[in-house]
Amino acid sequence: MITSKTRVAPVKSITLPRLELLAALLLSELYVVVLESLRNFKLKVHKLWWSGPQWLSQDSLHFPSIDLSTSCEEDVKCEEKSSTVLTNVSTSSQGSYLLEIIAKYSCFSHLIRVIAWCKRYIKNCRLSRVTGVLTSKEVDDATKIVIQTVQESQFHSEIQLLNKKHPLPNSSKLLPLSIFLDTDGIIKVGGRLKNSSLSPIQKHPILLPKSHHLTNLVIQHFHHINLHSGPQLTLCCIRQKFWIPSGRGVVGRLLSKCPTCFRFKAKSGEQLMGICLQIGSVLAERF
Ligand SMILES: [Zn+2]
Repeated sequence: MITSKTRVAPVKSITLPRLELLAALLLSELYVVVLESLRNFKLKVHKLWWSGPQWLSQDSLHFPSIDLSTSCEEDVKCEEKSSTVLTNVSTSSQGSYLLEIIAKYSCFSHLIRVIAWCKRYIKNCRLSRVTGVLTSKEVDDATKIVIQTVQESQFHSEIQLLNKKHPLPNSSKLLPLSIFLDTDGIIKVGGRLKNSSLSPIQKHPILLPKSHHLTNLVIQHFHHINLHSGPQLTLCCIRQKFWIPSGRGVVGRLLSKCPTCFRFKAKSGEQLMGICLQIGSVLAERF
């Protein structure tokens, strides 16, 4: 192979005979160029072209040795690409990404477990490999991330004020709840139960927004694990860990849409009692 040349057919449609003529023209021009090049190059007497290198005709023992280790390393170094990986994602983009994931799930436990598995995968990519079922700590961490993200999106101004240790404005609806940030940066509800003997999470439940998909998922979760309990019991169970402003109304509205409860509460149809006939007239007709 000395040279080659190709051309693609033009966009403008041309007849096949014309295309063949163009191909013939291209070939003739290429032939002339090659002939002129060979005359100058003296290919006829070029030993390397016709016979190859001299060691190629000898035994394989006489082949020149190449230090593959150094050459490989050099090649690898030349081919080495930048290994810089973007590891820090901005909080806002990460938060919006998580909010999109939250919106796609219709079950609280599934959502938490998916987030926990994703976190384990990221951890395994960076550090030592962890296998087996999810631990309770991983599930708790995933829950915290989900809650932090939702609180950040819904109570952004309040979190900023709490971080700066500024008081909430009088117009804030969260003012009566005496909210505060815990060590994980999660908003919790304060109040007069501070000195009670309840567990810390019962004394200071996690604040959830009144109207958010995550709040609906939490309500549904507690409703399901309590075997489709009523609004009062569901709210009581939720308040052992979470606090939803105007919770009674929110829970009641959501549970009224539960298809399972609707089906079991439905009253069966009853037959209306027919009108009694006059016995005297019936007897007179028969006898
Ligand atoms: Zn139900």
